[in-house]
Formats: sequence, C-alpha cells, structure tokens
Amino acid sequence: MKILFASGNSHKKDELNKILKNHELILPKDLGIDSDVDETGSTYIENAMIKAETLFKVSNGLPVLSDDSGISVEALNGGPGIYSARYGDKEAGRKLTSEEKNRLLLKNMNNINNRNASFICSMVLILDNNRKFIVQESFEGVLTLEPYGNGGFGYDPIFFIPSLGKTAAELSEDEKNLYSHRGKAGRVIDSILSLYE
Ligand code: IMP
Repeated sequence: MKILFASGNSHKKDELNKILKNHELILPKDLGIDSDVDETGSTYIENAMIKAETLFKVSNGLPVLSDDSGISVEALNGGPGIYSARYGDKEAGRKLTSEEKNRLLLKNMNNINNRNASFICSMVLILDNNRKFIVQESFEGVLTLEPYGNGGFGYDPIFFIPSLGKTAAELSEDEKNLYSHRGKAGRVIDSILSLYE
C-alpha cells in the first residue's frame, strides 16, 4: 500500500521503511504537498493526530501515517517531551543543531543522579474516514554524561541502553529498530496494515 508519511524527517522514514517492507512510504514533499502544521497538542498522541488528520484532509483522503516522538526525562518531569525537536530554540533565538540540543540537555542534567529517560513514539494511521488507529510505544534508557557514537539521529548519542551496553547512536539500524520506540510502534502498525491488504 502507498502511504503518505506525515513527516519531513527522512531519518524517521528510513527507519520505518525497513519495518513496513510491503508498503511504500511517501513524504508529502515528494507529492508537492506542504504538510507543515503547528503542533499545538499537549501530548504525543494529540500531536500525531493533528499531523495525520491535516495530511489526510489536504491529500484528499490518501492513507496516512504520522509519528510524533521525543525524549522524556524522569528528573525533568517528562521534559523535553513533546518539545524535543524545539528544545532550547526559543532561548537561543534560532534552531539549535542536534549536537547543541544534546549538550544543553546534559547541562540541564548536571549533578542529577536520576538519569532515567524514555523515547516515546505515537503513531496515527488513517486508512479512510472510518478506519483510524493510534499506537504508542517506548524505549527505556539512561542519559550518558557525554555523547557516544555516530549513528542514528537526534538524542541517540546521549541515550544509553544498559542491557545492550551501548548508546542508541552505537546501534546498527536493524538493532535500533529491534528495540526502539519507533520500531515497536511500526511493527504494530505493520500488523494492522496486514489486516487490510
Ligand atoms: P517530531 O518530529 O516532532 O516527532 O520530533 C521528534 C524529536 O524527538 C526529534 O527531532 C528528535 O530530537 C527526538 N527523537 C525522536 N525519536 C528519536 C530517536 O529515535 N532518536 C533520537 N532522537 C529522537
């Protein structure tokens, strides 16, 4: 099935393509569709729903998949959470790079012993007006004291998985998909899609 993926993030698309093998993910920009929306929700699920519903409308009812994700840190009351992509931008007056965001998060965690963190991923799949599905999954780890590894994207270099002895940026794509929030949510979406082929 051809599915419009409500994101401009090609890293996310590449990760998901490996899971939804029997389907073709298309980015809105490839169809000349502007899918930029204000993420005004207060939860990952609300934001994923806003992205999916908007794209479903502007594409005149094509099958749509959206993803809203972020890193929730226990000692920061779940922050940066839904603001992960924008973390520190307002204070800096510009878009920070991933490296700068990682440095900022580690600075804000200075001297904090509880370093538990989770990546969260909410996905919304809309097949037609009457078939809409919400999935949310998580990936647990701890924040490091400094970045390690060159793979992945975003907060991966400072997210350490104790059971694997590596940061998410030190995992291969396949390994990350096996354990990650997006990998787990993607497999549930894949099993839902298999019911409608
Ligand atoms: P979204 O595009 O609004 O869903 O924002 C997601 C943000 O959360 C990204 O820009 C990353 O900063 C962070 N994020 C989500 N998933 C991951 C991941 O798998 N690794 C690293 N960072 C992630």
